[in-house]
Amino acid sequence: MRHMALHDALTGLPNRALFRDRLGQAIAQTARTHTPFAVLMCDLDRFKAINDSLGHPAGDILLRVVADRMRAALRPYDTVARLGGDEFAIVLSHLDEPCFAASVADKLITAISKPIDLDGQTVEVGISVGFAVATERDVDPDELFKRADIALYEAKAAGRATFRMFCPNAGVRVATRSQLGLDMKDALRRGEFHLAYQPVIDAETGAVVSFEALMRWRHPIRGEIPPGEFIPLAEETGLIVSLGTWALREACREAMGWPDAVRVGVNVSAVQFRGGLEEAVLSALAETRLPANRLKLEVTESVLMRDADGVLACLHRLRALGVLVALDDFGTGYSSLSYLRRFPFDKIKIDRAFIRDIADPEAAAIVRAVVSIGERLGMGIVAEGVETVEQLELVRREGCAQVQGFLFSKPLPPEEARAYALSAGARVA
Ligand code: C2E
Ligand code: MG
Ligand code: MG
Repeated sequence: MRHMALHDALTGLPNRALFRDRLGQAIAQTARTHTPFAVLMCDLDRFKAINDSLGHPAGDILLRVVADRMRAALRPYDTVARLGGDEFAIVLSHLDEPCFAASVADKLITAISKPIDLDGQTVEVGISVGFAVATERDVDPDELFKRADIALYEAKAAGRATFRMFCPNAGVRVATRSQLGLDMKDALRRGEFHLAYQPVIDAETGAVVSFEALMRWRHPIRGEIPPGEFIPLAEETGLIVSLGTWALREACREAMGWPDAVRVGVNVSAVQFRGGLEEAVLSALAETRLPANRLKLEVTESVLMRDADGVLACLHRLRALGVLVALDDFGTGYSSLSYLRRFPFDKIKIDRAFIRDIADPEAAAIVRAVVSIGERLGMGIVAEGVETVEQLELVRREGCAQVQGFLFSKPLPPEEARAYALSAGARVA
């Protein structure tokens, strides 16, 4: 009974209560021995998306594997606890050198990022780590927790699968992740979200064929926050449903101001399919009077990994109305090819990782293969992230019909996008 009260049933790790106890012990010990210790907060990157797409049993196995790897990476007298969900916390006692905490964080990131086999599916998950080093002056466990959490937040913001140490001189950066989650709730009401529009260009004629709507958050204190940082959080909190509904309506409304031939692409997340995406699309079209065939939904394969039948049925119904569907970030997922057989996508967007490396003959061969698959299946190919004239030349040579990237334009504010759409003319030499 005692064991159960102090341990997490899934992973067997200490739970939050036992962790607090160990943290208290570390504080007491440091007061005696004057050797510092460290508190680490760890959070898996995009665990929610994996959990949603592969199902909870797979998510459970993944958490167990992560727990085992963490245990193996630590010394026997360190404590690693699962605080809940995909959040873990560690006490590293007796730090001879404070920099030892950084090397442990690094070791954890490397250990966790190794591929994990989940019933035949290989997945990779990253972990972000924030830590605070405590000396005998630091006696408040809550304060230490908070410092490690702030550092974790900064690690996440720095691009995931990385670590950060709490730095007391960081000034007013007290925004913890939970704070950001709370801020986000009000942000929608306060109109802090907006959309930027990036043109997609016909590789042959140079004409604008569409714009992709990309979400931005203008935070009153932190300034512009990129979607890579807040979309996963919005997915975790479920706010993505109302946020996505807003984006659909806003993008459709904006597209009404462009020439008739120009479509708008809107990214939709897997969570939205369980939150009434179909109704959101229908009402956005009805309210703005945008013809259905001017709207393109961009989905990633993660959308199809869970409840594929329900999602496919929904996509088929939308497509029957004329809405286009693109498969985004193609090539980055676990099994992109298999999804091509399951749904007649209108477009395949090749992930920019392949375009970045297209000078490399192997990357070029992959792009060429995707183009020919697309041709066979009647799906157009869009190359994402074209930044240089050389890349443009190469993607054209491989047969990509449409291109998008900084070479043509960054995502633009609405009025500039409108001007861009209206200033017709060849943009491709
Ligand atoms: P995505 O859908 O693949 O969007 C393309 C991303 O590539 C955008 O990043 C865009 O700014 C960036 N990009 C475009 N051209 C280039 C280039 O030449 N070089 C480089 N390095 N990058 C380029 P952004 O705006 O930061 O969006 C990131 C991701 O956030 C999007 O990836 C999409 O998955 C997600 N996202 C954005 N808006 C929304 C939204 O409204 N709803 C949902 N669910 N996700 C969104
Ligand atoms: Mg996209
Ligand atoms: Mg993409």
